[in-house]
Amino acid sequence: MYLFPYSMATKLIDWLGVDFERIYNERGGMQREQLKLINKYSVLMQAKTNAYMTIKRLERSKNKANIDFAKNIKNTMTGTLSSEILQTLASSPNADEIIIEWQPSSAEEERATHALHYGKRMTIKQAEKLGLGVEYNCQCGMKIIAGQKHVQKITTKINRGKKA
Ligand SMILES: [Zn+2]
Repeated sequence: MYLFPYSMATKLIDWLGVDFERIYNERGGMQREQLKLINKYSVLMQAKTNAYMTIKRLERSKNKANIDFAKNIKNTMTGTLSSEILQTLASSPNADEIIIEWQPSSAEEERATHALHYGKRMTIKQAEKLGLGVEYNCQCGMKIIAGQKHVQKITTKINRGKKA
């Protein structure tokens, strides 16, 4: 079983129906329709909070007119959800039983510090500490070597839009 937290986050956000082109309302906030949709899913609450922080930060930029708000909000929400997937697994009651093998990033540019760990086996807690799926824009993945059923239980819940 393979798990790529960043891809999982991307797919889930898309599947839940979040439309990044329609989130920013041009007035420092989010469009009501998208906000209503996001509020239905507890798994998106932290991503929503961080999206607001991104909007606030971009609003203050002198270069505001040239900023792609949709792209920035997408990066923030996907990154937040990816981190949460990892953190949820790493802080779960059976985390010590979850052993992973680090899989190469699907991103075009790989991070040298992460490439050092490709193919290595470790607990999910160690992987989190080393930044897998947690560091900004990390698109590395994991092969689950042990503890599949614990992982599955958590990812199933997350894939239903619920905070596990
Ligand atoms: Zn990485």
